[in-house]
Amino acid sequence: MKTCLLVLLTAGLLSCAEAQKSTLKVDPEWELSQEEWQERLSEMEFYVLRLKGTERAFTGEYWDNKEDGIYYCRACGLELFDSKTKYKSGTGWPSFWDPISKKNIAIEKDYAMGIIRKEVLCDRCGGHLGHVFPDGPKPTGLRYCLNSVSLNFLPREEVKEE
Ligand code: FE
Repeated sequence: MKTCLLVLLTAGLLSCAEAQKSTLKVDPEWELSQEEWQERLSEMEFYVLRLKGTERAFTGEYWDNKEDGIYYCRACGLELFDSKTKYKSGTGWPSFWDPISKKNIAIEKDYAMGIIRKEVLCDRCGGHLGHVFPDGPKPTGLRYCLNSVSLNFLPREEVKEE
């Protein structure tokens, strides 16, 4: 009986750990303290990127940006999204149906607000970008709903080839 209980408990703990498993692998060079981030970022950038806040809809710099180019992480400069996958979602936040590379973003379960959402983070610095929802357009069917203040846009002609 005791063994049975132990097995059940272990299984429960394991599935719990599984549910909270994150894909985030912050680069050691970008593991800064909250104080260091506060010094580097503006108040709004810190609120969204480090405290996981959300900018008000239709107030950000990029929700209606139709220019051709690349969106980078505002905190660490990693390239994240291409305007070729940006679309008009009508939400008031810049929305994309795919990242440039899945390696550059991390997805974590977010239990805030009493609902389970999928949080999108920059995989290099751990900055909060927004959330991903399953109601996007083809071909992925995903909607990466991001905060403008987490991003930095560069027009295509200014993008340096690496
Ligand atoms: Fe970053």
